Amino acid sequence: MPGPEIFALDPQLNESMRAETRGEAIPLALRRFQDCWESCGSTSAAQRATAAVLARYHQLFPSASPVVRVARLCDVVGVRLTGLRPRSRFKPSYTVVDSPSRHPGYSGSVRFSRQGAPSIEIPEGVDGYRARVSAAHEIGHVLVHKRGDNYDDVTTRLPASVQEEAIAEYAARLLLLPTGNVKAPNLAEYAVRWASDAEVTVHAAACRLGDPDQRYRQLNGAVLWKLSPKVRSDLLLSERLTPAWHVCPGAFVPIGRCKARVGSLVAELANGSTPVSGVQIEDVRIGSFAGKFKVHGFAWGSVSAGTRLVLSVFEGLADTRLAGREAFTAGEVSDVLTRGEQQPLLSEGWF
Ligand SMILES: [Zn+2]
Repeated sequence: MPGPEIFALDPQLNESMRAETRGEAIPLALRRFQDCWESCGSTSAAQRATAAVLARYHQLFPSASPVVRVARLCDVVGVRLTGLRPRSRFKPSYTVVDSPSRHPGYSGSVRFSRQGAPSIEIPEGVDGYRARVSAAHEIGHVLVHKRGDNYDDVTTRLPASVQEEAIAEYAARLLLLPTGNVKAPNLAEYAVRWASDAEVTVHAAACRLGDPDQRYRQLNGAVLWKLSPKVRSDLLLSERLTPAWHVCPGAFVPIGRCKARVGSLVAELANGSTPVSGVQIEDVRIGSFAGKFKVHGFAWGSVSAGTRLVLSVFEGLADTRLAGREAFTAGEVSDVLTRGEQQPLLSEGWF
C-alpha cells in the first residue's frame, strides 16, 4: 500500500510542507516571507529569494570558483560574518561520517540588531564543510526576515518556528547546491561527488536530491551505512553495516541498531576496497522503511581500516516517469574520487 505523498527527502521540510498542504496555520514570519516574494508556498519563496541572491552573486563575482563561498554570500545579502573561520577545509566530505546534529543548522546563530547589518556567527567546533552548511542555514533565516533593503522588525523578534528552521535549511542547500533537476544514472555516487565538489556534507547533498524543486524523480529515502564499531570484525559485512544517518520521511529507522540484509546491494558494495557503485531493484526493509525500490548505491573507504561507507538512495518505482529508462549498471567501478583525495588543503579564502 503506498504511503503518504513525499514532498521532500529532508524529513523536517517534508513535514512542514505537509502542514502547509493540510492548510494548517503558517507561522507569521513565513506568511510574510511568502507575501514578500509573491509566492503561495514557503518553498517557492525560498527558491525565489535564493535565486535572487545567486544572480547577484554571479554578477558581483563573475569569474568566481564553482564552489559558492559563504563569505561572499554574506557580502551579497549584507550580513556581517563573525567568529573564527575554520583554518582549513579539514578532510574532504566523503571521508567523514557526517552524522548531522539532531537539529541540523542549529549550531550557528544569527543576530538582528536595531541598527546595521545582521550578523552571523560561524559555529565553533564543527568541521569545515558542516560549518559552511550551518552558516548558509543562518543566511536562510536572514532571507526569511529580509524585506527589500530592510528587515521585518516584528518577525525578527519572534523565535524561529520548526517550519522556519526547515525553510532555512532548504535555503542553505539551494545556495550551496544550486543545481536543480539532477539527472544521473547513480544518484548515490552523484551525491557523494557533488558534496565533495561543492564542499558540503554528504547529508546535505543527499537531502538536496529529494528537494521539492527536483522534479525528475520520486525519492523515498537515503541511508548512509557505516561499519559498526560494536560488532566483531570477523562477522559477515552485512552484520557489521548499520545506518550512520538516514533521511526517510515518515519512517522509523533505528540508528546503530539495524543491519544490512545478506545479499543486498549495500552489503555487496561494502565488500571491496575501491570506490564502487551499483543500481538494483530490491525489496527493502530497514526499520519501518519498506517497499520495492530502485536502490542507488555507492561505497568508498576501507573495510580493514573500518572506514568503509555506503550511501544508498531509494527511488520509488510507482512513478510513471521511470518507464523505459536506462539499463542498470551494477558493480560498475568508479575512480572519480581519487581526484578529490589529492586536492590541496587551502589555508584561507575557502569559506
Ligand atoms: Zn536555524
